[in-house]
Amino acid sequence: MKPLFVATDRYEVDIGPHVFPTAKYRLVRLALLQEKACAPEDFAEPEPPSREDLLLVHSSAYVDDLDHARLTERTYRSELPVTRPVIGAFRLAAGGSILAGRIAAERGVGVHLGGGLHHAFPDRAEGFCYVNDVAIAARAAQRDRLARKVLVVDLDLHQGNGTAAVFRSDDSVFTFSMHQENNYPVKERSDLDIGLADGTGDKEYLDLLRETLPRLRDEERPDLAIYVAGADPFEEDQLGGLSLTRAGLRERDRIVFEELAARGVPVAVVLAGGYARRLADTVAIHTATCLEAIRASLTFPRGERK
Ligand SMILES: [Zn+2]
Repeated sequence: MKPLFVATDRYEVDIGPHVFPTAKYRLVRLALLQEKACAPEDFAEPEPPSREDLLLVHSSAYVDDLDHARLTERTYRSELPVTRPVIGAFRLAAGGSILAGRIAAERGVGVHLGGGLHHAFPDRAEGFCYVNDVAIAARAAQRDRLARKVLVVDLDLHQGNGTAAVFRSDDSVFTFSMHQENNYPVKERSDLDIGLADGTGDKEYLDLLRETLPRLRDEERPDLAIYVAGADPFEEDQLGGLSLTRAGLRERDRIVFEELAARGVPVAVVLAGGYARRLADTVAIHTATCLEAIRASLTFPRGERK
């Protein structure tokens, strides 16, 4: 059986003074090892995506810009340095999410300690995102006949605008985004958007999730879910205005895994955002998601989906 996690130290790149902590990926793996939640062999290294993988979602002109680290009207909005090492690290995440999808198809749950770069559009970068690994993983799973219908459950604080745009007229991928309404980005239309009021806390958030997920799972009948498990709905996030506690976020993860497992829908997890004032909080939130994923993988129903 494949390892449960996809991780690499190559995501930790120097992007200068920036709110995005690229050290978090290494620190989450370290925390899982220190807590003895898993062993070194539980982590697989991602392969860089092929050009063909990138073209499942992105235009060839944009992929050319990325290949040459060119500053153009397509790349300048990334809010990240337009350099080969930085672009290389972020495009590697597409390979990581593709692999997490394959792991999920095989063992019910696959976790990518990276990715969730849901603001990238087919023809341009945006908001710390060069390559939309969520959309690429969905299309790659379909191409590789691992899934026909994919459900994206995007619970990052920010709307998955890039993902919504990619699948706007594609019925084979259902995009669900629950996010803070009055925040970045300019909204695209997902198949289902729940825009939350500033300051929304645990109870309201979790009630909404509990009522929405079973409906989607049953009506859309996905063969694969991609869970965008952003840590930024946290009450002390520097870019966010929701008020979830760490315990609330862990309950969020549990709900997602339990609802999907109840119908045998495999789930690939990506970490996405997290900008807590204390890096340790962001790392703890992502680590808790991983611990819930381990738990879910042990109970995931084998064989026929219900
Ligand atoms: Zn975010």
